[in-house]
Amino acid sequence: MQIKWLGGAKEVGRSCIYVKDNNFRCLLDCGVKLSSEDMYPELSDINFSKLDAVIISHAHLDHCGYVPFLFAHGYRGPVYTTHPTRRISRIMQDDFASIQKEETGWGPYWREDVRLAKKHTVALDYGEKREIGKDIFLTFYDAGHILGSAQTLIETKYHSLLYSGDINMDESRIMDKADTNIQADTLILESTYGGKNDKHTYLEDSENDLISIINDTMASGGKVIIPVFAIGRAQNILMTLKRAIEDGKINVPVYLDGMLQRINEIYDDYPEWMNNEMYSMFKESNPFDFHMFINVHDRKKILKMETPMIVVTTAGMMSGGPVISYFKEWANDPTNVLLLVGYQVEGTLGRKLLDGEKEVTLDEKKVYVNAKVQSINFSAHADHDGLLDFVSNLKKRPTNIFLNHGDPDKLRELADDLGNSATVAEPLTTYTLEAARTGFEPIEPSFSKEGVEMVITTPRDEIIKNYMIEIIRSTHRELLISGYIDTALTNEIIEAMRRNVKVKAIIRHLTRPSNKEAYRILSAHGAEMRENRDLHARMIISDDRYALISSADLTRDSFYDHYEAGFLVKNRTMVNRVGSFFKRVWGESYKID
Ligand SMILES: [Zn+2]
Ligand SMILES: [Zn+2]
Repeated sequence: MQIKWLGGAKEVGRSCIYVKDNNFRCLLDCGVKLSSEDMYPELSDINFSKLDAVIISHAHLDHCGYVPFLFAHGYRGPVYTTHPTRRISRIMQDDFASIQKEETGWGPYWREDVRLAKKHTVALDYGEKREIGKDIFLTFYDAGHILGSAQTLIETKYHSLLYSGDINMDESRIMDKADTNIQADTLILESTYGGKNDKHTYLEDSENDLISIINDTMASGGKVIIPVFAIGRAQNILMTLKRAIEDGKINVPVYLDGMLQRINEIYDDYPEWMNNEMYSMFKESNPFDFHMFINVHDRKKILKMETPMIVVTTAGMMSGGPVISYFKEWANDPTNVLLLVGYQVEGTLGRKLLDGEKEVTLDEKKVYVNAKVQSINFSAHADHDGLLDFVSNLKKRPTNIFLNHGDPDKLRELADDLGNSATVAEPLTTYTLEAARTGFEPIEPSFSKEGVEMVITTPRDEIIKNYMIEIIRSTHRELLISGYIDTALTNEIIEAMRRNVKVKAIIRHLTRPSNKEAYRILSAHGAEMRENRDLHARMIISDDRYALISSADLTRDSFYDHYEAGFLVKNRTMVNRVGSFFKRVWGESYKID
């Protein structure tokens, strides 16, 4: 398996990873970057018609925003997401397309492409395993980040790859925390807050800060503008405000503008994708239908109002959207507050204001920033310790860990703390992942357990062959056998079939005359026969009582003077494991006419 970052390496934004496994090719996420440069992933080397799948972790634009571009340029394959992501990403993409068109007169794609992308989207539940290529399986797990957000597990026969997407390791007001009951050989981990000093405050502390900033501002007659991502942060802030109003801690109308009005409606359709508290609230009614939440229909009217108020609106990093209108109008007044509650990417207006710029140009107009710019952390991402916890809570520590979705310093600091299994992913570099398994999981014989016996031949193979004959003779119902079968063994098997024993045999090579003969005779007597040239293991499994697995070549009548070894298994669990190995190989073997 090979992986290559087309975006999202050493940066936050335009997440896009190319994955290739033999003839299978897919993209993990296909997002945009909300900044003035490097907005899109580097797709120039990708042949869209050869892509087998696109897999989207969640509906934030830095993960899903560029998918319609693929459809604008001929991609017609499946897009896999969860059910809420399918629905929400369409709204996000439509909005992105129209903002781009408004601002630059040009967009990377049109509404028609968004519609096509949705049409080709296949939605899955968490934990639902889907075959997306030959012997390639996809399963989504809860990432705890926003509604519908998923971690992506890709499993092949030889390797498993877990892509975290964006994860949260703390429960929020809306979501459970990320699922860690997952096992993978390679992990691709987000690192947004991976820096040594990235430590989130407790949710209660952040909520108290929010309440006191609001109360101070209201006391001086000002307004609070809270820019939010339409999905995730918006609903967390709204639930916090609602609770504070109900508890009598604040008393002020909250105006909702932009896309989040629509997104709040969507939450109503997916209560089972949230935490238990939200689930039971939604059973009664939509908690966002609240008398102090007022949807803005006439923005001009609100902009002229003199009374204190809170405005919650998009976009979260002030890269566009209604927040710009409010900010332009109110930034000059020192009693007002711009309250940032999310991560601000380098190069965005939100980041510039956070870094203290006092004069910005918006729509060719100079805006002087006298309003206070404050920030409170309500992150939906795991912090430094949360990311370390995520890795150590996984079922098994991954052999390789690649870090992406972070600023270079933070990536390096997190890599240091994860130790030598961690690599900071470089843009446009192909990484080859070694096969973690040689086909199937090895069957581990347990020497200490009763019922497993190691069998070593003398320089002649008789001992193993005698065991085989004994096993065939003691079979009552079903006999599974693989390897070379000579005349003596053929006769024993025919005897067993006369006792109504069902037989399945896998022969390695039909080119040998003795094997061809065994194939013909055993078929004629009612055995199910198959050929598999890749199978070197010699197995014999009798009912669920005995199994022998060995390296011995039993047809040569032992003219080689060397040792062979095998295991005789009498323990029922072990016998079943050998049996299921046989059945997997059986599934891949051919019937010859
Ligand atoms: Zn996200
Ligand atoms: Zn992200």
